[in-house]
Amino acid sequence: MHFPSPLSRRLVSRQFFPWLFLAYLPASVQAHVHGEARLEIGLAGNTLELRLEVPQEALLGFERAPQSASEREAWRLLQARLANPAALFSLPAAADCQAANGPDPEHLRPLSAGDGHRDLILAYRWHCRQPERLRALDSQLFSEFPRLQRIRVDFAGPSGQKSGRLSARQARFTW
Ligand SMILES: [Zn+2]
Repeated sequence: MHFPSPLSRRLVSRQFFPWLFLAYLPASVQAHVHGEARLEIGLAGNTLELRLEVPQEALLGFERAPQSASEREAWRLLQARLANPAALFSLPAAADCQAANGPDPEHLRPLSAGDGHRDLILAYRWHCRQPERLRALDSQLFSEFPRLQRIRVDFAGPSGQKSGRLSARQARFTW
């Protein structure tokens, strides 16, 4: 297996996406754009996995480690919000999906690129009884986090691969 850099190696989760998204790794080493997140969607069998890479700035308004009491409280509240995938993403009821976990705590640790920017990497997983009915995903991230303006999406599943963009106006990705 070949990785373009140690940074992108750090961005690879051993637990999630062991094979689906290695092709997208070079984008991970680019500097992030404030207001813009990346979402990888992987559907394999009954399992739907999401990996969200989002600038901390888009979620909290600051990119350093929490310092003041109010920043520490904001960080604590953010972790609670991110631990509830149902508040962030909606799946078609017909697909009968159950969230298998919230984000792995490891993924709530910010990644610092060493240039003053910090990304959060979040991973979510669902098990779906009717995965063939799973043809779309809605994101509430824009209403939850108004600083977020765009999400670049890469999907891989039985229907093939597809890329797209989400915004507050177009918060549904279909495949
Ligand atoms: Zn930044």
